[in-house]
Amino acid sequence: MRVLITNDDGIHASGIQTLAKHFASFATVTVVAPDRQQSATSHSITLHKPLHVDEVHLGSSIRAYQVNGTPADCVKLALGALCEDAPDLVLSGVNSGANLGLDIVYSGTASAAAEAVLQGFKAIALSVTKPPFDFTASVRIAENLAHQVIQHGLTADTYLNVNIPPLPYDELKGIVVTRIGVRKYKNAYERRTDPLGRNYYWQAGKIVKVHNEQDTDVHAIEAGKVSVTPVHFDFTNGQSLVTLNSWQLTL
Ligand code: MN
Repeated sequence: MRVLITNDDGIHASGIQTLAKHFASFATVTVVAPDRQQSATSHSITLHKPLHVDEVHLGSSIRAYQVNGTPADCVKLALGALCEDAPDLVLSGVNSGANLGLDIVYSGTASAAAEAVLQGFKAIALSVTKPPFDFTASVRIAENLAHQVIQHGLTADTYLNVNIPPLPYDELKGIVVTRIGVRKYKNAYERRTDPLGRNYYWQAGKIVKVHNEQDTDVHAIEAGKVSVTPVHFDFTNGQSLVTLNSWQLTL
Protein backbone atom coordinates (compact mmCIF):
# COMPACT_ATOMS: atom_id res chain seq x y z
CA MET A 1 0.00 0.00 0.00
CA ARG A 2 1.31 3.46 -0.93
CA VAL A 3 -0.05 6.33 1.15
CA LEU A 4 0.35 10.08 1.00
CA ILE A 5 -0.12 11.74 4.38
CA THR A 6 -0.83 15.40 5.04
CA ASN A 7 -2.53 17.53 7.72
CA ASP A 8 -3.36 21.08 8.71
CA ASP A 9 -1.66 21.19 12.13
CA GLY A 10 1.76 21.23 10.48
CA ILE A 11 4.37 18.52 9.90
CA HIS A 12 5.71 18.81 13.46
CA ALA A 13 2.34 17.94 15.05
CA SER A 14 2.13 14.74 17.04
CA GLY A 15 -0.95 13.48 15.13
CA ILE A 16 0.68 13.33 11.69
CA GLN A 17 3.94 11.92 13.04
CA THR A 18 2.19 9.13 14.94
CA LEU A 19 0.12 8.32 11.83
CA ALA A 20 3.15 8.33 9.49
CA LYS A 21 5.22 6.11 11.79
CA HIS A 22 2.37 3.65 12.27
CA PHE A 23 1.68 3.34 8.53
CA ALA A 24 5.40 3.02 7.75
CA SER A 25 5.33 -0.36 9.53
CA PHE A 26 3.21 -1.87 6.73
CA ALA A 27 2.99 0.69 3.88
CA THR A 28 5.13 2.97 1.74
CA VAL A 29 4.66 6.42 3.26
CA THR A 30 5.22 9.86 1.78
CA VAL A 31 4.44 12.87 3.97
CA VAL A 32 3.86 16.28 2.42
CA ALA A 33 2.53 18.71 5.01
CA PRO A 34 2.52 22.40 5.91
CA ASP A 35 5.60 23.71 7.72
CA ARG A 36 3.38 25.41 10.32
CA GLN A 37 -0.09 25.48 11.84
CA GLN A 38 -2.66 25.85 9.03
CA SER A 39 -5.89 24.90 10.82
CA ALA A 40 -9.07 26.55 9.54
CA THR A 41 -7.43 27.52 6.24
CA SER A 42 -10.16 25.56 4.50
CA HIS A 43 -9.46 24.78 0.82
CA SER A 44 -7.29 27.82 0.10
CA ILE A 45 -4.33 27.56 -2.25
CA THR A 46 -1.26 29.73 -2.77
CA LEU A 47 -1.02 31.59 -6.08
CA HIS A 48 1.00 34.73 -5.47
CA LYS A 49 4.18 33.46 -3.85
CA PRO A 50 6.51 30.53 -4.48
CA LEU A 51 6.08 27.23 -2.66
CA HIS A 52 9.25 25.96 -1.03
CA VAL A 53 9.71 22.27 -0.28
CA ASP A 54 12.19 21.08 2.36
CA GLU A 55 12.93 17.49 3.34
CA VAL A 56 12.21 16.60 6.98
CA HIS A 57 13.49 13.56 8.85
CA LEU A 58 10.60 11.58 10.33
CA GLY A 59 12.17 8.12 10.26
CA SER A 60 14.41 6.08 7.99
CA SER A 61 11.64 4.60 5.83
CA ILE A 62 9.49 7.75 5.50
CA ARG A 63 9.93 10.36 2.75
CA ALA A 64 8.75 13.60 4.33
CA TYR A 65 8.58 17.16 3.03
CA GLN A 66 7.38 20.39 4.58
CA VAL A 67 5.83 23.08 2.42
CA ASN A 68 5.24 26.78 3.15
CA GLY A 69 1.67 26.42 1.96
CA THR A 70 -1.79 25.22 2.88
CA PRO A 71 -3.04 21.62 3.20
CA ALA A 72 -4.64 21.86 -0.28
CA ASP A 73 -1.31 23.16 -1.66
CA CYS A 74 0.44 20.15 -0.15
CA VAL A 75 -1.93 17.66 -1.76
CA LYS A 76 -1.80 19.36 -5.16
CA LEU A 77 1.99 19.63 -5.04
CA ALA A 78 2.46 16.05 -3.83
CA LEU A 79 0.17 14.52 -6.46
CA GLY A 80 1.34 16.85 -9.22
CA ALA A 81 5.08 16.93 -8.63
CA LEU A 82 6.58 15.22 -5.57
CA CYS A 83 5.14 11.68 -5.56
CA GLU A 84 7.00 9.49 -8.04
CA ASP A 85 4.32 6.79 -7.78
CA ALA A 86 0.62 7.53 -7.39
CA PRO A 87 -0.61 6.73 -3.87
CA ASP A 88 -3.38 4.20 -3.30
CA LEU A 89 -4.76 6.43 -0.57
CA VAL A 90 -4.40 9.95 0.83
CA LEU A 91 -4.71 10.42 4.60
CA SER A 92 -5.21 13.81 6.27
CA GLY A 93 -4.56 14.08 10.00
CA VAL A 94 -4.69 12.94 12.60
CA ASN A 95 -6.07 16.36 13.52
CA SER A 96 -6.06 17.68 17.08
CA GLY A 97 -9.70 18.69 17.41
CA ALA A 98 -13.12 17.74 16.05
CA ASN A 99 -14.23 18.19 12.45
CA LEU A 100 -17.96 17.71 12.97
CA GLY A 101 -21.02 19.17 11.29
CA LEU A 102 -20.41 22.03 8.87
CA ASP A 103 -17.12 22.84 10.59
CA ILE A 104 -15.65 20.81 7.74
CA VAL A 105 -16.25 23.88 5.56
CA TYR A 106 -13.50 25.68 7.49
CA SER A 107 -11.32 22.63 8.05
CA GLY A 108 -7.92 22.30 6.42
CA THR A 109 -7.90 18.63 7.46
CA ALA A 110 -11.13 17.87 5.60
CA SER A 111 -10.20 20.09 2.66
CA ALA A 112 -6.94 18.22 2.08
CA ALA A 113 -8.98 15.03 1.71
CA ALA A 114 -11.44 16.85 -0.53
CA GLU A 115 -8.59 18.05 -2.74
CA ALA A 116 -7.29 14.49 -3.08
CA VAL A 117 -10.76 13.40 -4.21
CA LEU A 118 -10.90 16.25 -6.74
CA GLN A 119 -7.59 14.93 -8.11
CA GLY A 120 -9.11 11.46 -8.49
CA PHE A 121 -7.68 9.75 -5.39
CA LYS A 122 -9.22 7.94 -2.45
CA ALA A 123 -8.97 9.88 0.80
CA ILE A 124 -9.70 9.77 4.53
CA ALA A 125 -9.68 12.74 6.92
CA LEU A 126 -9.03 11.83 10.58
CA SER A 127 -9.58 13.86 13.74
CA VAL A 128 -9.42 13.19 17.48
CA THR A 129 -12.24 15.34 18.79
CA LYS A 130 -10.80 16.83 21.98
CA PRO A 131 -7.97 16.48 24.50
CA PRO A 132 -6.25 14.36 25.63
CA PHE A 133 -4.67 14.09 22.17
CA ASP A 134 -3.26 10.58 22.39
CA PHE A 135 -3.27 9.18 18.85
CA THR A 136 -2.72 5.50 19.67
CA ALA A 137 -6.35 4.47 19.05
CA SER A 138 -6.83 6.74 16.05
CA VAL A 139 -3.95 5.27 14.04
CA ARG A 140 -5.32 1.73 14.59
CA ILE A 141 -8.68 2.93 13.28
CA ALA A 142 -6.94 4.62 10.35
CA GLU A 143 -5.18 1.35 9.48
CA ASN A 144 -8.42 -0.62 9.63
CA LEU A 145 -10.30 1.90 7.46
CA ALA A 146 -7.42 2.15 4.99
CA HIS A 147 -7.62 -1.59 4.35
CA GLN A 148 -11.42 -1.36 3.99
CA VAL A 149 -11.18 1.52 1.52
CA ILE A 150 -8.53 -0.25 -0.57
CA GLN A 151 -10.61 -3.45 -0.53
CA HIS A 152 -14.02 -1.92 -1.30
CA GLY A 153 -13.07 1.33 -3.05
CA LEU A 154 -15.06 4.54 -2.54
CA THR A 155 -17.58 6.38 -4.68
CA ALA A 156 -15.41 8.47 -7.01
CA ASP A 157 -16.26 11.92 -5.61
CA THR A 158 -16.37 10.91 -1.94
CA TYR A 159 -13.93 10.98 0.98
CA LEU A 160 -14.41 9.66 4.50
CA ASN A 161 -14.48 12.19 7.33
CA VAL A 162 -13.59 10.26 10.48
CA ASN A 163 -13.92 11.65 14.01
CA ILE A 164 -12.58 9.70 16.97
CA PRO A 165 -13.41 10.32 20.65
CA PRO A 166 -10.35 10.75 22.92
CA LEU A 167 -10.64 7.30 24.45
CA PRO A 168 -8.31 4.30 24.65
CA TYR A 169 -9.08 1.81 21.85
CA ASP A 170 -10.70 -0.69 24.22
CA GLU A 171 -13.02 1.97 25.67
CA LEU A 172 -14.48 3.13 22.34
CA LYS A 173 -18.20 2.33 22.20
CA GLY A 174 -18.20 1.30 18.53
CA ILE A 175 -17.86 2.70 15.03
CA VAL A 176 -20.83 4.00 13.04
CA VAL A 177 -21.52 5.46 9.60
CA THR A 178 -23.07 8.89 10.03
CA ARG A 179 -24.31 11.94 8.19
CA ILE A 180 -23.19 15.48 8.91
CA GLY A 181 -24.92 16.88 11.98
CA VAL A 182 -25.39 20.36 13.38
CA ARG A 183 -22.76 22.27 15.32
CA LYS A 184 -23.63 25.74 16.47
CA TYR A 185 -21.37 28.33 18.05
CA LYS A 186 -22.09 31.44 19.97
CA ASN A 187 -19.76 33.91 18.29
CA ALA A 188 -17.73 35.63 20.93
CA TYR A 189 -14.99 38.16 20.35
CA GLU A 190 -12.82 39.14 23.26
CA ARG A 191 -11.81 42.76 22.91
CA ARG A 192 -8.36 43.45 24.30
CA THR A 193 -5.86 46.25 24.19
CA ASP A 194 -2.28 45.87 22.96
CA PRO A 195 0.76 47.60 24.56
CA LEU A 196 0.43 50.47 22.05
CA GLY A 197 -3.13 51.15 23.18
CA ARG A 198 -4.82 49.71 20.09
CA ASN A 199 -7.84 47.48 20.48
CA TYR A 200 -7.80 44.05 18.93
CA TYR A 201 -10.24 41.14 18.85
CA TRP A 202 -9.68 37.48 19.60
CA GLN A 203 -12.21 35.00 18.24
CA ALA A 204 -13.44 32.75 21.04
CA GLY A 205 -16.62 31.03 19.85
CA LYS A 206 -18.33 28.70 22.29
CA ILE A 207 -20.19 25.56 21.24
CA VAL A 208 -23.93 25.77 21.83
CA LYS A 209 -25.55 22.45 22.59
CA VAL A 210 -28.22 21.66 20.00
CA HIS A 211 -30.28 18.57 19.32
CA ASN A 212 -28.69 16.12 16.89
CA GLU A 213 -30.41 13.10 15.36
CA GLN A 214 -29.05 9.68 16.24
CA ASP A 215 -27.53 9.10 12.78
CA THR A 216 -25.31 12.21 12.90
CA ASP A 217 -21.58 12.60 13.46
CA VAL A 218 -22.14 14.85 16.51
CA HIS A 219 -24.43 12.28 18.15
CA ALA A 220 -21.97 9.43 17.54
CA ILE A 221 -19.12 11.34 19.19
CA GLU A 222 -21.26 12.26 22.20
CA ALA A 223 -21.99 8.53 22.56
CA GLY A 224 -18.28 7.67 22.58
CA LYS A 225 -18.34 6.12 19.10
CA VAL A 226 -16.07 6.61 16.11
CA SER A 227 -17.96 8.50 13.39
CA VAL A 228 -17.38 7.78 9.68
CA THR A 229 -19.13 10.19 7.30
CA PRO A 230 -18.96 9.89 3.50
CA VAL A 231 -18.61 13.47 2.20
CA HIS A 232 -18.90 14.83 -1.31
CA PHE A 233 -19.37 18.19 -3.00
CA ASP A 234 -22.90 18.80 -4.22
CA PHE A 235 -23.47 22.51 -3.81
CA THR A 236 -26.44 22.89 -6.15
CA ASN A 237 -29.74 23.24 -4.31
CA GLY A 238 -32.06 20.98 -6.32
CA GLN A 239 -35.25 22.34 -4.77
CA SER A 240 -34.16 25.91 -5.48
CA LEU A 241 -33.44 24.96 -9.11
CA VAL A 242 -37.12 24.09 -9.51
CA THR A 243 -38.22 27.31 -7.80
CA LEU A 244 -35.86 29.53 -9.77
CA ASN A 245 -36.90 27.94 -13.06
CA SER A 246 -40.49 28.84 -12.20
CA TRP A 247 -39.44 32.52 -12.21
CA GLN A 248 -38.83 32.15 -15.98
CA LEU A 249 -35.92 34.60 -15.87
CA THR A 250 -35.31 36.64 -19.01
CA LEU A 251 -32.68 39.19 -19.96
MN1 MN B 1 -6.03 21.34 12.70
